[in-house]
Amino acid sequence: MPQIDPLRAEAVTFDSFDLLKPEMRSKLVAGNWKMHGSLTENEALLGALTKGLASTHGFLCAVCVPFPYLAQAQAALQATAIEWGAQDVSEHAKGAYTGEVSAAMLKDFGCRYVIVGHSERRTLHGEDNALVARKMEAAQRQGLTPIVCIGETLSQREAGATEAVVSAQLDAVVERAGVGALQSAVIAYEPVWAIGTGKTATPEQAQEVHAFVRGRVAAKDAGIAERLAILYGGSVKGSNAKALFAMPDIDGGLIGGASLDAAEFLAICEAARNASGSGG
Ligand code: PEP
Repeated sequence: MPQIDPLRAEAVTFDSFDLLKPEMRSKLVAGNWKMHGSLTENEALLGALTKGLASTHGFLCAVCVPFPYLAQAQAALQATAIEWGAQDVSEHAKGAYTGEVSAAMLKDFGCRYVIVGHSERRTLHGEDNALVARKMEAAQRQGLTPIVCIGETLSQREAGATEAVVSAQLDAVVERAGVGALQSAVIAYEPVWAIGTGKTATPEQAQEVHAFVRGRVAAKDAGIAERLAILYGGSVKGSNAKALFAMPDIDGGLIGGASLDAAEFLAICEAARNASGSGG
């Protein structure tokens, strides 16, 4: 049976989706460049990625770049297998919102993905669960795939509150947009204590939360839960990607620091390709 990719399957009927087995979810590796790069640096990085990834057969790959470089990413990637996206989006469609960027504007530059609710936005820019849910809806209204970030801080984990925190973050988007909205969304579980710290959740720790998240979605709709891509983010590198991606509920990674290093990012992509059974 050919592999069907739920993230690219707009034309596939729900009957077809129902034929999917959980192990057939495509892995997705998405880079989050954060506020890094320059025209010159990006040219080198994008050039190395396109050279190193002639095909993404068996998995999906994207880079989420700063707004000013969307045109550069579009020009460099449009004829390649690598997709691109942004790191934030306004909840508003248009208007007097100085400094904001709408989902329609991201569409204009060919974005497929947009990250919403990254912990840095939640912490440094005061974004709460309700705003993240509105941003997810704004993205979906334009046909973008939101990568919705959830995850607990170290003190929350130590207090035994991990499940309560990710539940509240997940429930906010499901309550606002409906569980059906998760058919065209990606969830990224990113424990805040692992982001940019060099500390990675063990594959077992990550799997436990991924399975919990999938189970919570399954309580509303088992079919959507089976097809939902749940990425892990937090200090993923070439050296730990294989073990993480081997976990049954880890469907790829949201990659920060390592996405700025072509060799590291390509190694993570290779781990995704091998985990999807298309290696070699
Ligand atoms: C991130 O910021 O989404 C992230 C996962 O960062 P890092 O890989 O650097 O921990």
